[in-house]
Amino acid sequence: MIRINKMSDEQAEQEIEELRQEIARHDELYYRQAEPVISDQEYDKLKRRLENIEACLPEGSAKQPTIGDDRQEGFVTHTHLEPMYSLDNTYNEEELMAFETRLNNIIGESDVRHYVVEPKIDGVAASLTYEHGNFVRATTRGNGTEGDDITRNALTIEGLPQKLAGSNHPETLEIRGEIFIGNQEFHRINQAREAEGIQLYANPRNLAAGTVKLLDPVETAQRKLEIILYGLGYCHPDVFTKQSEFHDALSEWKVPTLDRLWNCDSLKKAWAAIEELDQIRKTYPYETDGAVIKLDSLASQQKAGFTAKAPRWAIAYKFAAEQKETLLRDITLQVGRTGIIAPVAELEPVQLAGTTVSRATLHNQDEIRRKDIRIGDQVIVEKAGEIIPQVVRVVLEKRPTSSLPYEFPSECPACGSKLEKLKGEVSICCPNSACPPQVRRRIQHFGAKAAMDIDHLGPSIVDQLVGLGRVQDITDLYKLTKSDLTDLEKFGDKSAENLIKAIDASKSQELWRLLHGLGIQHVGAGVSKQIARHLGSLEAIQKADLAALTSINEVGEIVAQSLRNFFEQDSSGKIIEQLVSAGLNTLDSSQVKLDGPPSIFFGKTFVLTGALEKYSRGQAGEMIEKLGGKVASSVSNKTDYVVAGPGAGSKLMKAKDLGIEIWEENQLIANLNTKSEKSTKPTQAELF
Ligand code: NAD
Repeated sequence: MIRINKMSDEQAEQEIEELRQEIARHDELYYRQAEPVISDQEYDKLKRRLENIEACLPEGSAKQPTIGDDRQEGFVTHTHLEPMYSLDNTYNEEELMAFETRLNNIIGESDVRHYVVEPKIDGVAASLTYEHGNFVRATTRGNGTEGDDITRNALTIEGLPQKLAGSNHPETLEIRGEIFIGNQEFHRINQAREAEGIQLYANPRNLAAGTVKLLDPVETAQRKLEIILYGLGYCHPDVFTKQSEFHDALSEWKVPTLDRLWNCDSLKKAWAAIEELDQIRKTYPYETDGAVIKLDSLASQQKAGFTAKAPRWAIAYKFAAEQKETLLRDITLQVGRTGIIAPVAELEPVQLAGTTVSRATLHNQDEIRRKDIRIGDQVIVEKAGEIIPQVVRVVLEKRPTSSLPYEFPSECPACGSKLEKLKGEVSICCPNSACPPQVRRRIQHFGAKAAMDIDHLGPSIVDQLVGLGRVQDITDLYKLTKSDLTDLEKFGDKSAENLIKAIDASKSQELWRLLHGLGIQHVGAGVSKQIARHLGSLEAIQKADLAALTSINEVGEIVAQSLRNFFEQDSSGKIIEQLVSAGLNTLDSSQVKLDGPPSIFFGKTFVLTGALEKYSRGQAGEMIEKLGGKVASSVSNKTDYVVAGPGAGSKLMKAKDLGIEIWEENQLIANLNTKSEKSTKPTQAELF
């Protein structure tokens, strides 16, 4: 504060501008890309610093704090019946007491004040709408007023109740909760990625945030999302008078809710509850990052009201992440599949949150510069529910006098090529596609489960094959013979035979797998499926120009440009020629000519609404798409069919108004079966 008071207006304005830009950058990374590069505590410190400086400026010059916006292209937005707010944060007991003082000033002092203390789950906020007890829709928080409709992904959540138990449900209900990925599932996913040599997810929250926004519900279903409901958004008719009463209703409705919450008749007792929660939360199967303290009385809540960003009747107490100081011994560089160089902090091993930490991510060159991290520094590392530790800051007081700023090497540590900065991106890249670590990772990626799914092609086999020069690019896999494999370490006759068979079998893999396996930057599995389905053949994909590519659902300019860059290279053309002559499938299965007339689904747009019994909406949508249909989330005059299950509401009404043909679930199943007798109805196993 003293420093702030001594600042000139000019200095203050400059720092405010810098902080705003910095915060906007972190908001984008956190809310839209689900890839934050600083810890929440560091982020909150930046926000505090901004608020403190703004507080010293003339009244009215501070910008209103806003809610981070998670809306993304590719989703239909939906307006919440009641806005969804964020929460104000506190990090110590004193700040918590200040919360009560503020409340007293607004709603008046009271001898007894009831609070509810709830665990703060570290996931993604979601709002579920129920009409007469039937699930209708799930949305993200978005900008607080309107959020993205994520119903198709939410339907993959096993515990999501399609119907509330009991009877006498409110006519319309918006229940607020958190979608998350449990610790066990998070470790399962990361272990599989580690085995495939793919970059690990940093923490369950980021993974959950990325998963709810996948455009392909089949992909979402492969990661086990969970949900816990805790909050009342909108209720008609208005039947609740207390937050604790609403919790009782959640239990009666048999929806997944908090195992434990605390009813407290003073803030002192609320503090004791927070301390107890901090002890027991380590045994929870999911991450919690704090406690939420809420006024119990809904009438008092209403009186306290909201700021532009958060309720005045609730506050989050955030548990501080464990931090440790250690020595930064070295900075090493890892070369990724696409040549991107990832700097890694090599640390003096230190015990942190139950594990020994000896390496931490440094993200990129800009991050090292921003934090001025130097070899030989004492650094603070943190692991806030994160699997990958981060370097939070340097302990400047302990910096050796001889230390020099870190110079990012200009040459690739693996092959010596001159490194290049990617246009418009922060990453530095090795441009040599023959660089050995790149080759190894490309081949691992090609054979990975999410791409060509070649069994027995583990990282150690790839390392040996590349090291011995027997495989230099993916096409060499198809030239391998048994005798190229039998002398590999831990690889007998039988293993060699199995690998050759698996490589051979991969020739008939689906086109999207091949496209994904090519390892083109920004072209993941989901987008590959869209492109393959839309363009139908590898030849058409090779020839598609930017306009044709960007007209495909999910394909933006970055993905389209990346595809063009790849296909314009001579080396890519040669690789594809060789893959084709090795006999790989280059056609999308929905384009393979069927016997008999084309499916009733082909080229038609479907909207699925209400609850389906036999399949989830995600599964049904996938089957329709496999037969050449499209699935949209809202009804318009472009809709050909609406499939309506129990609980269908406004979409069904609109479809009737527009005279659109409406199917019940059994009609959908009958049509899917008719088609499958003739040709291609996918099995459950194919879908997942
Ligand atoms: P928040 O996560 O601090 O708190 C609000 C959210 O808590 C609610 O939207 C809700 O989803 C969730 N929540 C979980 N359990 C709850 C319960 N029992 N009752 C009520 N709500 C509950 O706020 P936010 O607006 O989602 O995000 C802001 C915070 O995100 C920042 O304070 C910061 O910690 C973090 N953030 C970090 C970065 C970064 O780069 N690391 C960037 C932006 C934001």
